[in-house]
Amino acid sequence: VPTVPIFGIRVSKVDMAATVAYLTEAVHTRIPHQVITANPIMVMAALEDPAYMEIMKSAELVVPDGTGVVWAANYCKEPVTERVAGFDLLHELMQQGERYGWKVYLLGSTPEVIQETAERLQLQYPRVIIAGYHDGYFGPESDDEIIAGIVKTNPDLLFVARGADSQEPWIAKHKSNLGVPIMMGVGGSFDVISG
Ligand code: UDP
Repeated sequence: VPTVPIFGIRVSKVDMAATVAYLTEAVHTRIPHQVITANPIMVMAALEDPAYMEIMKSAELVVPDGTGVVWAANYCKEPVTERVAGFDLLHELMQQGERYGWKVYLLGSTPEVIQETAERLQLQYPRVIIAGYHDGYFGPESDDEIIAGIVKTNPDLLFVARGADSQEPWIAKHKSNLGVPIMMGVGGSFDVISG
């Protein structure tokens, strides 16, 4: 997709519809994509932390979530079409999942929140297969086991909610082992969905 560089991070310039079309293609070709929904806090974090910057730069798709990122692109005289909010993108992808019968794995939040989120998403998107879910409170010693559990279910989508400072590095570190077509950090989305 066409991008605009913001402090060297290539931010997608396309609107929600084109973003969804692009990611649908990624599912069909099964090419792994780390999707980052960038807000100004994450851009600032990247400016202060070279490792975080590297993660932002190596993500296959960075979309402008926060209005601040949209503003920055406009300021660079390279307007992005519109804000692509992470929460909206999650639901758009679930809608595609409903259309195509995709498998989704949900990782993050507390055991109660993630179970409630899985149940509500299943009600809202009955044709989506919730391949599995796991809470987000585990240490690096559990990474291998958790990743094996995800890979075993061969999902099309992996949503990770562990807070921006840890979910994006976690996906980046493990993305080649995970190999899921769409791997996206969703922050507090599960807390919202579970009500
Ligand atoms: N979370 C998690 N594991 C952690 C820390 C946070 O699964 O070690 C979850 C938390 O339950 C919440 C989500 O990550 O559902 C976002 O957390 P928070 O709002 O604290 O992070 P932020 O979005 O502010 O970075």
